[in-house]
Amino acid sequence: MVTVEELFAIDALLSPEEREIRDTVARFGEKRLRPHIAEWFEAGTFPAREIAPELGKLGLLGMHLEGYGCAGASATAYGLACQELEAVDSGVRSMVSVQGSLAMTAIHFFGSEEQKQQYLPAMAAGELIGCFGLTEPDYGSNPGGMRTRARRDGDDWVLNGSKMWITNGSVADIAVVWAYAEEPGDDKPRVRGFLVPAGTPGFTAREIHRKLSLRASLTAALDFDDVRLPADAVLPESRGLSSPLACLSEARFGIVFGALGAARDCLAAAVDYARTREVFDKPLAGYQLTQAKLADMALELGKGQLLALHLGRLKDRHEITSEQISAGKLNSTREAIRIARECRTILGANGITLDYPVLRHANNLESVLTYEGTAEVHQLVLGKALTDANAFR
Ligand code: FAD
Repeated sequence: MVTVEELFAIDALLSPEEREIRDTVARFGEKRLRPHIAEWFEAGTFPAREIAPELGKLGLLGMHLEGYGCAGASATAYGLACQELEAVDSGVRSMVSVQGSLAMTAIHFFGSEEQKQQYLPAMAAGELIGCFGLTEPDYGSNPGGMRTRARRDGDDWVLNGSKMWITNGSVADIAVVWAYAEEPGDDKPRVRGFLVPAGTPGFTAREIHRKLSLRASLTAALDFDDVRLPADAVLPESRGLSSPLACLSEARFGIVFGALGAARDCLAAAVDYARTREVFDKPLAGYQLTQAKLADMALELGKGQLLALHLGRLKDRHEITSEQISAGKLNSTREAIRIARECRTILGANGITLDYPVLRHANNLESVLTYEGTAEVHQLVLGKALTDANAFR
């Protein structure tokens, strides 16, 4: 028997250090997270406070960033870590992506030296949790339409508006919030990032319940009602919508690898099940229909991993484009959800329970397909790149 990684000789493409990082994260996932994940998913919770310092100790928070207590790992190593975390659950990988690739990256890219010193080491250690508020109730795929506003009052900023679907929002110590900043002298407001500590008067975070996807992840609605912030709450280098979009690009890159981890876990469960489950007096694995399903899924998973690695290498050489990340995000999420659903068929009725990971992963992947740019948005990005015609509006 071979795994997909063996079939495609993936290890031959990794350095010993990358394999070591991957295996360390895999061991952590299996030992520390997997035994509890079904329970967390069922309860609709995630013990972020407890797990974040452990993730920090492994160097997984802001892993690809340099300095300020961050690991400074390669993009490829970061991707491999995402893959192992998401093999356990997309919720865990989401926590890490939002902390490292969104909140910490925003501060690292656009923050002042003081902001970086104040927040990044504690966030890298998992002592402080961050969230990233861009989406609003009425503006998801088109964040440029956002209504949240920051106006000047003397030296202070006053923030009003709301954000929706914010991962880590209910547990975060610090929220990176994107708003149109109205500044004297500017002819029109510009999107800028603001650091809003939890507990600031007028700032409330309300957990969103009744989710059927990413249940082992905390998701919140944030409200800002005349939230008064000091002058230095703004991320000074953030200027325009391209700033949050640059952070999203970092997080999307992690998903290119991550989603394939969920798919791999489903495929492993399906192979395992098919080898022992007997139907019509022999193991399900011995039927041609089952083998065709498994072979097709293995092909898509292997191709996805090769693409992810290629994109990782391009990113490590600073040669990657946002269109290439879109292609990877679209491919990985779309194929991963197809694989998860197909694996569920192999497990029959057992596949719908939390005793097996397949429907949990499939449900999670609904969110992964949607956040960080929906599949349709990435199709439009690629369509525009191929034709030069903008079909967004
Ligand atoms: P819409 O933008 O309303 O899209 C609805 C449908 O219309 C989609 O199918 C979309 O593809 C399609 N569509 C949109 N535009 C076009 C077009 N031009 N042409 C054709 N079709 C189009 N956001 C954050 O800021 N921070 C977070 O931490 C965060 N975490 C999240 C966690 C979860 C679990 C989920 C589900 C979402 C999270 N999001 C977060 C929000 C996420 O980024 C948005 O849901 C996403 O951008 C899509 O926006 P929307 O849900 O408003 O859908």
